[in-house]
Formats: sequence, structure tokens, C-alpha cells
Amino acid sequence: MWPEPEPIPVAGGFFPVHRPYISGDTDTSGRTPEGWLLDHSYARLPDVLFHRQAPVPVKAPHLVVFNKPLAADLGLYPEGLDGEAGANYFSGNRLPPGALPIAQAYAGHQFGGFTMLGDGRAILLGEQITPDGRRVDIQLKGAGQTPFSRRGDGRAALGPMLREYLVSEAMQALGIPTTRSLAVVTTGEPVIRESVLAGAILTRVAASHIRVGTFEYLAARRDTASLRILTEYTIQRHYPGLTTEESSRIPAFLEAVCDRQMELVVRWMLVGFVHGVMNTDNVALSGETIDYGPCAFMDHYDPGTVFSSIDTGGRYAYGRQASITHWNLTRLAEALIPLLHADEKEAVRMAEEILGTLPGKFQTLWSNGLRAKLGLTTREDGDEELIGQFLALMQEHGADWTLAFRSLAEKGLPGVPAYLVPGWQAWQTRWTDRLERQPESTETLRQGMRQRNPAVIPRNHHVERVLDAATNGDTAPFLSLLDAVGRPFQPLPEDSVWMAAPEAPDPHYRTFCGT
Ligand code: AMP
Ligand code: MG
Repeated sequence: MWPEPEPIPVAGGFFPVHRPYISGDTDTSGRTPEGWLLDHSYARLPDVLFHRQAPVPVKAPHLVVFNKPLAADLGLYPEGLDGEAGANYFSGNRLPPGALPIAQAYAGHQFGGFTMLGDGRAILLGEQITPDGRRVDIQLKGAGQTPFSRRGDGRAALGPMLREYLVSEAMQALGIPTTRSLAVVTTGEPVIRESVLAGAILTRVAASHIRVGTFEYLAARRDTASLRILTEYTIQRHYPGLTTEESSRIPAFLEAVCDRQMELVVRWMLVGFVHGVMNTDNVALSGETIDYGPCAFMDHYDPGTVFSSIDTGGRYAYGRQASITHWNLTRLAEALIPLLHADEKEAVRMAEEILGTLPGKFQTLWSNGLRAKLGLTTREDGDEELIGQFLALMQEHGADWTLAFRSLAEKGLPGVPAYLVPGWQAWQTRWTDRLERQPESTETLRQGMRQRNPAVIPRNHHVERVLDAATNGDTAPFLSLLDAVGRPFQPLPEDSVWMAAPEAPDPHYRTFCGT
């Protein structure tokens, strides 16, 4: 049962549980000439959730890449921020008017083990109110030490920040919910990792930075009062359409979060994305992809694909991402137990009922997604088998995930020797016959398939090359690839260089955690 609204002590006063945490006010008249309009709803939450912390100034900030279309979308004036002003703001050397910098507290299960964490190198400047009334976090990643830094230096290196910029913007273009990247600046200071690297800061834009780990943090502290406030805040910020009926509000919330996460992970898998570090602190309640560290796109199809150098057990392998999502959501459900029902047994039963629907939901979403990729618009009995055979053939022959699907959308299986074998050819005949039994013309079907099957993704061998060049001072290849991944479904002729699969896939390709 949802208890009676009661005043809860928080920093600076008392307010009732049902206080509106997010004002619906979209008055944008207070925007500064550069376009800043920052609010701080998160900093009005209980102060156990954050620590006030300014970014640590850097020696010589230099703007390396700046996302002008995104800036305009946020109400910022791109021309005014492209240069020294941007370098100062996006390094934290100068705070935007109205900023109230904080580091957020959270916990998380990292590779299965529970840890208290928090922003060890990220500072939230505030929530920018966009011209269309959205509220988005503006966060500097790599902005210096905070009370949560533990043994870390609070800094980030240029390569990983450019990688996050590139891959998050690619995901956006693919239509997959994601945090965005506004800018990368170099700091003029070295960071010491295995070698000495150029320091850099990424400005990240997110619907919010509320994580499964944020709930786990309050649950671990047995701070049910704050947990209730955080939950209500999250509902108001990300699930405003939820029922207001008190007994079903929390279960409906859990279910809505579960649905969004399953949709997200299926979208990843349909484009061959491997997140790489699906710890519960890297799961955003907004349903956006967050924390691009050792992520990468799979070349040849293999469910066991792992790229992260630290994921030695394959916990976050491509084909395990749905079951790991289920595991992560179970941690969220556990944190919510005190709010689900006054009777703990009943609360557990409710949580299990919601979580129990996830495997079925995954199967439906996955199957529908693959049907769309293969151009199936009607339903027939043998469809699951047809889809299963395609996956099995890809795995058996080491087919490139992206090229195989895209080729079907263009002209059928690739006309190269690897596909001119009886197994593939028999499958193609069966598939072609199947499409002919549908009402749409082949061209209409292919047009639809081209919207589902990207031609351009940030392929590992290209990503490595452009990051190498950029860290050596030449950003041109990076910008060219960034441009190309921005139009994944309608490539231009000059994008063909970025569409090529590696000549010999590197089975030992490894990505390193984004530090
Ligand atoms: P991540 O792997 O980026 O999700 O980070 C996991 C945790 O480690 C978060 O609490 C980060 O804030 C923290 N962290 C990562 N790198 C650093 C660093 N260089 N200095 C301080 N904290 C860090
Ligand atoms: Mg993280």
C-alpha cells in the first residue's frame, strides 16, 4: 500500500510525498544570450543523492569537436560557443550562468558484485530547458576529482571520449535511445594510464543520469523516505503518463521501466551492438543507452562476441545482453520492494510477476525485429524456422551481421563466393518465395528493409584508425566517419570506405574500458 502522504525532512525544509518535483513550466524567457537556461530539479532532492562539487579547472582547454545541430536543438547558440567560449564552458573552466554543479551519488553491481560508487569524474552542471520544453542533463565527463573518485584521478583520455562521442551519435542516427554528445575538449594536461595520454572532457547530454544503481544506493542505506522521493521524481521525469492510482503506481513504474529496457536491448541486438559493461550503474531509468566504454559493433555473427578486455568471463557478451538486462532489472525490483507493498512477501510476489514476463517480451520483440529486418510483413507458420535458419547460416559461415542484412535489402545475398554455397542458396530461394506471397512489391519491401538494416555503422577497425589519427592531431578521418554514421540508412557514395567489413576479422580485437 502506498502510505499516506506525509512530510519528509529534506535539506532546506519539508515537503509532502506528492509534491510535484518537476515543474511543468516551460517558460523559456530567462535564456541567456548564449542560450543557457539551467534548472536544478535533481539538486532539490534529498541531499544524500549528491555532493556539490565544481569542476576542477584545466590548464589549456581546446575544443576538438562540437555538435552544432545538437547545440541548436538545446537552445544554445552554436556560433557563439564554437571556439574559445565553448572550450571554456565545456572544460568546466567557466560555469554557464545559473549552473549548480554536483556529483551524483549511486551504487551498482559491477560484474555481479555490489559497490558504492558515485560520479568519480563527472559533474552535472544542471538541466538545460530546451526551446521545446524538454529537460536534459548537461554533464561534464572527466571534470576532475569528486568525493566519489576513490583512487581515480577524475580525468578522462581523448581516445575514449571521442569514442563515446562517435558511437553515441551513431546510435542516435540509428534511432536508438541514447545519451548525446555535445563536445569534446582537450585539457592541455596529460592523464597517466598504461601510457601518458592527452586529457579530455566530454560534454554529455542525457534525459537524466538516474541509474538502477541510484535506487540500489538508497536501498542499501535503508533510506526508504528518500527512495520514495526518488521514485516519484523518476516517474514524473520519465514516466509522466503512469497511473496515479496509488496501489498500482509502483508496480506500473517497475513494469514500464522493464518494458523500456527490453526494447532498448533488442534494438541494440538488432544492429549488432555490444554495450560491453552492463553494470547496474550503467543502466539509465530513462531507457537511454548510457556509458559508452568498451562498446563495439559485432562484425561476423557470433552470440558469444565479447570485445571488452575486462569481460573475461563473457558476462556481457552480445547474446547474453537480454538475460543480463533481466538480471539488472531484478536488482531494481529488489530495491523497490519496500515501496511495492507493505507486506514484503506480497511485494516480492508482485516483483516476480512483473519480472517473469520479461523472457516472453524479449522473444516477441526480438522476433518482430528480425521479421522486419527480413521484410516479413505477414505471418506464416514456417517464419520462425526461416529466421532461425538465417541466423544459423550466418553463425556457421561467419557472415558479417550488417552486410548480410543490408545486402538482402539491396539485392539479395551478397554475390561473393562465401554465399554461393547450397545452404545459403536454398535459404535465399525459400526467402524469395516467402516474400512473393506478400501483398507488397519487392521494391516496397526492400525500401522498408533499408530503413531497418543500416549500411553504415562505426566498425571497429575504422573506429580504431580514426581515433589513432585524432589522438595524433588529425581529426579529419574522425569527422568523416562521424558524418557517415550520421546517415546509416541512406549512405552517400563517399561513405563506401566506411561500410567495408574488415578483410580478415580480428578474433582478438579488444576494447579497453573508457578511462
Ligand atoms: P564507468 O566504468 O565509466 O561506468 O565508471 C565506473 C565508476 O568508476 C564510476 O563511479 C566512475 O565515476 C568511476 N571512474 C571511472 N574512471 C574514473 C577516474 N579516472 N577517476 C575517478 N573515478 C572514475
Ligand atoms: Mg558508469
